[in-house]
Amino acid sequence: MRSRFCAFYLKNYPYLIDTHHSDYLDGLNEQTLAQEPLPQWLSLDVISSKQDGDTGQVSFQAWYKLDNELDAIHERSDFTKQNGRWFYTQGEQKTPILPKRNDKCVCQSGKKFKQCCAK
Ligand SMILES: [Zn+2]
Repeated sequence: MRSRFCAFYLKNYPYLIDTHHSDYLDGLNEQTLAQEPLPQWLSLDVISSKQDGDTGQVSFQAWYKLDNELDAIHERSDFTKQNGRWFYTQGEQKTPILPKRNDKCVCQSGKKFKQCCAK
């Protein structure tokens, strides 16, 4: 999960396709991943993760800016293990949870949210 976030951040599209289960790609490829406008990724919160045999679930929020607008992907991702490797299969999108105004900002600036990206 974390390695896939890093791959988004680093625009390592071959890795993202490689770790996406081929039965679930649904037309996704390196070209579609690279389509503009690309979000500017800020940070990743892994909320929970669990594993049961060859299936895994990770709930996370990934913050990004697109055209200077702050937004987040809040998703529960499903993974399956084949031949010792984990593959992303599908995810369920959820509503992003905003930090409280006095919490540290999601962009890791060290400032309070209300004094940073909440503006
Ligand atoms: Zn910020």
